[in-house]
Parts: sequence; C-alpha cells; structure tokens
Amino acid sequence: MATLESKVPKGDLKDKWTTYKDKINLVNPANKRNIDIIVIGTGLAGGSAAATLAGLGYNVKAFAYQDSPRRAHSIAAQGGINASKNYPNDGDSDYRLFYDTIKGGDYRSREANVYRLAEVSGNIIDQCVSQGVPFARDYGGTLDNRSFGGVLVSRTFYAKGQTGQQLLLGAYSAMNRQIARGKITMHNRHEMLDVVVIDGKARGIIARNLITGEIERHSAHAVVIASGGYGNVYYLSTNAMGSNATAAWKIHKKGAYFANPCFTQIHPTCIPRSGDYQSKLTLMSESLRNDGRIWVPKKLEDVHAIREGKLKPTQIPEEDRDYYLERRYPAFGNLVPRDVASRAAKERCDAGYGVNKTGEAVYLDFKTAIERYGKEQALLHGEHNPSKERIIELGEKVIEEKYGNLFQMYEKIVAENPYKTPMMIYPATHYTMGGVWVDYNLMTTVPGLYCIGEANFSDHGANRLGASALMQGLADGYFVLPYTIGDYLANEIRTGEIPTDTKEFDEAEKAVKERIDFFINNKGTHSVDYFHKKLGKVMWNKVGLARNAKGLKEAIQEIKEIREDFWKNVKVTGTATEFNQELEKAGRVADFLELAELFAKDALERNESCGGHFREEYQTPEGEALRDDENYAYVAAWEYTGNPSEAKLHKEPLKFEFVELKTRSYK
Ligand SMILES: Cc1cc2nc3c(=O)[nH]c(=O)nc-3n(C[C@H](O)[C@H](O)[C@H](O)COP(=O)(O)OP(=O)(O)OC[C@H]3O[C@@H](n4cnc5c(N)ncnc54)[C@H](O)[C@@H]3O)c2cc1C
Repeated sequence: MATLESKVPKGDLKDKWTTYKDKINLVNPANKRNIDIIVIGTGLAGGSAAATLAGLGYNVKAFAYQDSPRRAHSIAAQGGINASKNYPNDGDSDYRLFYDTIKGGDYRSREANVYRLAEVSGNIIDQCVSQGVPFARDYGGTLDNRSFGGVLVSRTFYAKGQTGQQLLLGAYSAMNRQIARGKITMHNRHEMLDVVVIDGKARGIIARNLITGEIERHSAHAVVIASGGYGNVYYLSTNAMGSNATAAWKIHKKGAYFANPCFTQIHPTCIPRSGDYQSKLTLMSESLRNDGRIWVPKKLEDVHAIREGKLKPTQIPEEDRDYYLERRYPAFGNLVPRDVASRAAKERCDAGYGVNKTGEAVYLDFKTAIERYGKEQALLHGEHNPSKERIIELGEKVIEEKYGNLFQMYEKIVAENPYKTPMMIYPATHYTMGGVWVDYNLMTTVPGLYCIGEANFSDHGANRLGASALMQGLADGYFVLPYTIGDYLANEIRTGEIPTDTKEFDEAEKAVKERIDFFINNKGTHSVDYFHKKLGKVMWNKVGLARNAKGLKEAIQEIKEIREDFWKNVKVTGTATEFNQELEKAGRVADFLELAELFAKDALERNESCGGHFREEYQTPEGEALRDDENYAYVAAWEYTGNPSEAKLHKEPLKFEFVELKTRSYK
C-alpha cells in the first residue's frame, strides 16, 4: 500500500521553501540530456512545466488531445491572476495572500503549500511580462489590478477579459522555442489512455493518436499529469466541452490516491440554463462583481410580473430591490467568495425570487457603476453640468473598456444589451478543488508520477478564490515542479532509456485496445451523451450546491445504475481507426461514471459543511457552512481497490501552526 506522507519541510513557514530548495538533489546539465519526462496536458500548468523542464535541458514529450496547445481549456480564463505584488499599495503581502487563500478554502488546505504559492506569485507576473503578456496597465504605465471575491485588496492582474488566453500564448511561445530546439516533442491530438508502472515507478504511457486511431507506447523517467479538472462530471459546466478526468482517473486506478473529490466550485455568475437541450454553460467572469451589483426584487408580485414579461427590471425602483449580498455581508458585499455568493443566490431563488422563467436567475446590474464612472469621466473632461444621457454615455465607455468582450459575449448568447438592462446570472459548476493527491513535491503516491494544475487536489482547500487557479497552475509549472522533480530524477541518471517492449507496456496496451474494441462493437441503443446527461442531472440535483445524506445515498445508487446501463447499452458510431469523437467521449464518460460515485461517497463521508461542500445537515441558524474541525480537518485521500464503492480512505491530517482556525465570516 502506498504511503501518505506530505513531505512538508520543517521550519518557519516563510523559510520552508527556500531552505528546502537549497538542500534538495540536483541533476547536472549533462545528465539532464539523458532524462525523458512525459507531460500530459499543455494548458497553463502543463505548458509552463514542459517549457521550463525543456529549458532546463530535460527531453520532454508533451501530449494534448487538442490540435494545438493554444486550445487548452486554460484559454477560457477570463478574469485574472493573483499575485501579492502590492502594486496598488493597499496593504498586500505574501502573508495576506496566503491567509486569504487558507481562509477562502475554509481551512482545508496545507499551510506550507499555500504559503509557497503566495511566495512565488510575484515571480509569475515577472515571468509573464517578460514573455510579452499584455497585462492591463494603469494611467502611469504600471500594471493595473482589480479585486476578486474573498479579499480586501486589489491583487488581480488581468488582460481585459482574456487573461487565460494571453497567459497561454506566453506559455505556448516558451514551449515553441523548445519545440524548435528539439527539446520538446509535441504530440497534439493524442490522448493518454493509461499510465505504465514498472517496479512501482511511473515509466510511460499508452496514448491513442486521435487522427489515425493508432495506439502508441511512450516511455520516460517521470510522468507529469496536467490534464485539468473534472467539472464536466456534471455534464453542464463552464468548462470546455472536452475537459475530462480520464488521465487523472487512470492514474488513480494505477495507484495514485484521489483527494477530496467532493470539493467542487459552483460559480455564482454564469449565464442561466435555458432548457434541456443545452450542452454548455457560459461563465460571466467574477471580475464583473467589482462593478456589478447583485439583486432580486423585494416583492414577489414584481418577480411574477417580470416572469410574465409585464415588468422590466429597469422599472423597479431602488427601494424595491434586494441587494442581498450587500445586505447579508456588508464587509465584502458583492465580493464575497464564490461558494457564499452561490448559496445566497440559491437561497433567494429557492424562496421564489428567481427572475427568469425557470425561476433560476438573479440580476447583476451595472447601472450604479455606469453612473459613477460617467460622473467621474465628465469631471475629468471638464464637463461640470453633464446631462444624464452624457453621464451614461461616458460611463458605458469605461465599462466597455474594462469588460467589453464579456458584455459582447452575454449579448450574443442572451440577445439582451447588458449596458441597458441587468444581466441575468445563476450558479454553475466551474472548478474542481479535489483531484489527484500530491505531496509537497507535487508527486502522487506513485513514485515518478507527478500531478500539477487543476488536476491535482491543489492548494485551494474546499473553495478556490477567484484568480488563483491560474496562479497555482503557473506556480506549479514554472516555479515548483522544475525544482522538485529534480530531487527524484537525481536518482535516475543511471537508468538509461526506458524500453517499451516489456510486459507492463504489453498489458496496459492490451487493456486499452480491449476497451476500444468493446465500445466500437457494442450494439447499444443510446448515445454516450444520453448517459452523460443522466449522470449530470443526478450530480446537480443530489451532489450539487447543497447535499444531504439521503440524497447522497440515492445518488450513489443511481450512478451505479447509470453505469451498469451504460456498459450494456452504449452505442458508439464510427470506427476505431479514424478521428472519432464519439469514441473519445465514450471512454471519458465511462471514467466520469466511476469518479462520480467516489465523489458522492466522499461527500457522504464528510459530515460537515466547508467551502463549496455544503451539507444541509450542518449549517448555522443563519444558513452558513458549519465546519467540524475536530473530526474533519484532514485531506480525504482515496485509494482505488477495484471498485469506486470500495475505495479505501486515507486521512492526511491538516496541521495549522501559523493560522488560527476561525469561522469564516465575510460580514
Ligand atoms: C470559463 C472559465 C474561466 C476561468 N477564469 C479564470 C480566471 O480568470 N482566473 C483563474 O485563476 N482561473 C480561471 N479559471 C480556472 C482556470 O482556467 C483553470 O483552472 C486552469 O486554466 C486549468 O489549467 P490546467 O493547465 O490545469 O488545465 P487545462 O487548461 O484544462 O489543460 C488540460 C490539458 O490537458 C490535456 N489533456 C487532458 N486529458 C488528456 C489526456 N488524457 N491525454 C492527453 N492530453 C490530455 C488537454 O489537451 C489540455 O492540454 C476559469 C475557468 C473557466 C471554466
């Protein structure tokens, strides 16, 4: 059985990482040339890791299922990336970023990892600026910042509403340099379908060439998984359609523990679902909560009139609007963390105040901000008596500069102009804090197998604060893994090239081929999406924003039934020797159907509410999450034993030496 040792170094919080780096083993440049590393995924985490490892001199074999690293899901990130640079001089520091992140995650993450994340955050910005990432700048030419939920400072660096895209272009150009040097071999349109473990160490992968269908063997001295999150287990989410859990799940089945699977983030500001035939949800970035105010009508008759189309939100006077976040959380207002804002929206909608036809929407309104900016601009233009129209015109320009592409996206999807009428928003699945368990070195419970970015259980505890996923992915890839992997590889310098003609590769390849053959030959009756949608409904209704023991037990049973039905009745069109997205989906949904069960089991086992995990049985009289630090201050790391329902729980106790555990309050 694999051990669960966090390997957090001793010493003062602020010195741990520096002292550790000073002492770990290094690989000399000549030896690096003889070492191969496989990196699965070239989003921000994998792309930054691949470029940096190749820059150090290792031979990197990188894999992605898209046709280019530029299309990784990371490209979708809109709002920004945190760093404790304190450019606005508003009191930020490494400690504050660390503290906000620990508190934001509801004290369910490792102190040492989170402090390291804060510590390297500034380096990420310098790195990206030197790559040419066009971060927004203020009037004086220095980098601009805005605020995200759960903090009282402005520390979010951004590039309009396209931060992920710009950062990914930076990582991609760094990768390209190494591809041109021959240090990265890029395998686009390749999907890893299994990891190969030899004598207890990760030694390679089995991948399918998605264009030809060919099954390939690739070997290496270490394997890094950077395959993103598993939010699509809910079917509808803000994730890219292709995002999936296969790489993470396959390594789980080969010995990597899976941690806190039930820690999921439901984001409060997404475009509401419009009907049953939708396959994707769209995020409206949290950055909008810097200026947008969230409300529902105070009177139920107004709600009904709106739903019937007899009343417009703009006709409701101020005194009849309930700015419920400002009312309930005066200190943080509209910028409370995502879990808090999502639950508050659900509470209002459950009470009957939801404003669209489904009853599942609240308003995000920019009227106040437009007027405020308009007045300021008029003064700056020397216009001392501007008309109301002029104020609005000037104010809308400022909003357009800040969020133009998000407003345009909203208008295209909803066919309403958000400058003139409030946006309608509702919570949707967005991010998974749970994932593959890793130690301080980012190594899984399988030696030589690493996991970075959203795919690992990471530094966000039970709830991720906005703009910290990009920070974590890039911290892992540019600044953490390149050091820690050397400590392991220093013992591999005499290993030589890893052959692929061994029985372990034979067995892994055989299993992959058998599964593909099954899908192609099974003469089922229902499409893959049919099962995925069914799974999504169970997950959303019983393992979603609010969970309870009864619903979770039902979910576990229902997921099993869907899985059994899937293996009998799934129908996959096309062949195995061509580009076949139905076949790809089948494999991914099969894995979601197993992961979902572990997810619900984990949620059932955690008898407390913390962060995004809200168990209805454990709440305060005001409806806030009620943690149980005495019994649940641990990472739940699950070991695969042949069936998700029989997974074995290992606990990594979380020790808090540098922060005091408090009830999270944003009031
Ligand atoms: C709409 C949206 C907006 C967001 N905005 C922000 C934001 O403003 N700030 C912020 O901090 N975070 C944001 N996030 C979260 C953030 O974007 C993600 O957490 C982060 O980009 C994940 O990066 P990653 O590198 O871990 O994974 P991904 O970007 O998902 O990359 C995964 C990579 O793995 C590859 N892959 C996966 N499986 C396999 C396999 N089996 N074989 C081969 N390759 C595989 C894929 O091809 C891809 O290259 C947002 C998320 C969403 C959904």
